[in-house]
Amino acid sequence: MYDIERVRANAAYYLSRGNCPRCGGANPVEPGFKRCRPCAIRESEERKRRRKRYAEQGRCPSCGRPRDDDSYKTCSICRANSKAQHEAMKQQRQEK
Ligand SMILES: [Zn+2]
Ligand SMILES: [Zn+2]
Repeated sequence: MYDIERVRANAAYYLSRGNCPRCGGANPVEPGFKRCRPCAIRESEERKRRRKRYAEQGRCPSCGRPRDDDSYKTCSICRANSKAQHEAMKQQRQEK
């Protein structure tokens, strides 16, 4: 079974040793990063491919759900999420 807590603990363990959790500690992680460079490149390539596929299928590029409003690029859920994130960030800034 996929145990998110264990995966997280594992990742933290690899990171604490300066190793990349994505490839099982095969590569070192540069300070301030959560994965090694090859993994980061692979991930961004995967994301790009996925977004392109979703866009071609007329789905939301960030989550793959069907879009509910054609005048927007993303679905209403992602729009609400990014808006909430935006608000949270704004609030954080104001609190400081
Ligand atoms: Zn890696
Ligand atoms: Zn979405």
